[in-house]
Amino acid sequence: MTSETSTLVGAVLEKKLPPQRIDENVQAIQQALLRHSRHLREADFNAIHPDDLQLLFRLYDEAFFDGECARALQGRKLNFRLSPRMTRAGGTTARLVSRAGTVSYEISIAISMLFDGFATRDREASVGGLPCPSRVDALQHIFEHELVHLIELLCWGRSDCSAGRFQEIANRFFRHRAHTHNLVTRSERARASGIGVGSRVRFTFENREVTGRVNRITKRATVLVEDPEGERFSDGLRYRRYYVPIAALKPEV
Ligand SMILES: [Zn+2]
Repeated sequence: MTSETSTLVGAVLEKKLPPQRIDENVQAIQQALLRHSRHLREADFNAIHPDDLQLLFRLYDEAFFDGECARALQGRKLNFRLSPRMTRAGGTTARLVSRAGTVSYEISIAISMLFDGFATRDREASVGGLPCPSRVDALQHIFEHELVHLIELLCWGRSDCSAGRFQEIANRFFRHRAHTHNLVTRSERARASGIGVGSRVRFTFENREVTGRVNRITKRATVLVEDPEGERFSDGLRYRRYYVPIAALKPEV
């Protein structure tokens, strides 16, 4: 173990901040992020860039670990990614080894989950057992979870958020009380609004209210609307397909 790594291991295993100080740090990081980001300007932001994750890393590393995470990287690269397709986990952290044997690290954050959550009428989402009144709170708590993964990878070469060591670190540094992400997911949102595959729904399309039946739910809902110009389906009728964000659907009763 190098001296940079053992310094981080020491800090990670021993440091304990008072709960109030943790909350103050997290709030100060939020203020700094909203002030300095070129993309993320409000608590329920609509744009984010990998640079914002880089900024979060620097802010968290300074506030909680005195910059020891960056030092423990020892020049190895840490890349940040926004993943639009990941729909289950809030994020992932990986240790990558190139063919030439070069080690790098990568933190990915699932932006689809962030942007799907926090629409009006959603129940309050939580991450790590912490309530997230706004999108930036969720981003921070997901990032904290991924940062603990990175720290474990740097210190011990492996990381597991269902194991005791991870949960103890996540709790002591960030007050996480659970290791599951409980963000509102698309299918959950659809269920909460009473919409599922087979539901009759209505929505507005080009200023016209149309009704149809939900055929599929992925990133959006596929709604089949009867239309003489549409394609013929197995029931002998013709339908046109509409791809509609779930939040724009209303159950038809
Ligand atoms: Zn995890």
